[in-house]
Amino acid sequence: MTRVDGHILTPTGWLAGSLHIGADGRIAAIDGTPVSEPQVRHGTLPLLLPGFIDLHVHGGGGRDSMEGGDALATIARVHARHGTTALLATTMTAPPHELEMALAGMGPACRQRTPGTARVLGVHLEGPYINPGRLGAQPDHARPASTQELQRLHALAPIRLITLAPEIPGNLEWIPRLREAGFVVQIGHTAGSYDDGVAALRQGATGFTHLFNAMSGLHHRAPGMVGAALAHATHAEIIPDLLHVHPGAIRAALRAIPCLYCVTDSTAATGMPDGEYRLGSHQVRKCLGGVRLEDGTLAGSTLTMDQALRNLVHDIGLEIDEASRRVSTHAADFLGLDDRGRLQPGAWADLVMLDPALQLQRVWVEGEPLDD
Ligand SMILES: [Zn+2]
Repeated sequence: MTRVDGHILTPTGWLAGSLHIGADGRIAAIDGTPVSEPQVRHGTLPLLLPGFIDLHVHGGGGRDSMEGGDALATIARVHARHGTTALLATTMTAPPHELEMALAGMGPACRQRTPGTARVLGVHLEGPYINPGRLGAQPDHARPASTQELQRLHALAPIRLITLAPEIPGNLEWIPRLREAGFVVQIGHTAGSYDDGVAALRQGATGFTHLFNAMSGLHHRAPGMVGAALAHATHAEIIPDLLHVHPGAIRAALRAIPCLYCVTDSTAATGMPDGEYRLGSHQVRKCLGGVRLEDGTLAGSTLTMDQALRNLVHDIGLEIDEASRRVSTHAADFLGLDDRGRLQPGAWADLVMLDPALQLQRVWVEGEPLDD
């Protein structure tokens, strides 16, 4: 049994005390006395929060998930060093054989966690069933829904989440079948209207992919996909690197969407110096903290989840406990995982230790400390 002391954020509030990690990698017990958030912020004890959960990761450490092979192990190691304890490996829109190669590489990393890396919960298929007019930085290989292709890919690596554009013919009717088969469906890379969004939610879609980015915006007489999300969504992704979305728009979304949660949409350039990197079949350039295509289009980010937490607290003004839910708990709930994203007995001992300025100090993945 390992004991970790600090200010512990539990589902019912902060405790000054100890968290005990069992030999099975799960939290055995938590004990302590309640403390307030101001005491935590102005105290000297380290903070213990649930490990971060990132459902939208393309790359890191110079590697891109579309490379296949062992790229994902490197990516999961880089993100674990920034406090991400569980993630979804995210694909790019690509020709069928390239997607198959990528998922063939992801399969082993999904089935078995390499020590020192984040848990890979499965795959987020971002396209190819998206709108070719709203590619963002996705390569131009969007295509109509294909159950056969999806079955082939799912046999190679477990797909948990599918981003699709509901206005593409066939996609709306596909959503209930995807739900029945156990996939979570998210609306994204879409030019669809408000009505398309409402219809997709009725059919069983439950989330929105990087809210505001690569979707029809809100006009007061044509509220678009952003309007559908703000009016009806319980869950949506947002990229809080302060480049993809203005802080004011993040604040508006926080008021509208109860379980808005953060993703990084991070690329190979994450954790690397400025220069040229690969994103799917695109060459991208990292410069001034942004990653862009040659024409200036933002092409994913270099955000890490520890920075996302700091941005939410220091720039957006959230309390630490709310910010923690938005970098961890809500994402776990969105995937239906009740033993991650919260510090309570029985849950996986996925945790991060931070100093009161929210600088990361230590990380545990399923009870494994990453620093030794
Ligand atoms: Zn993405």
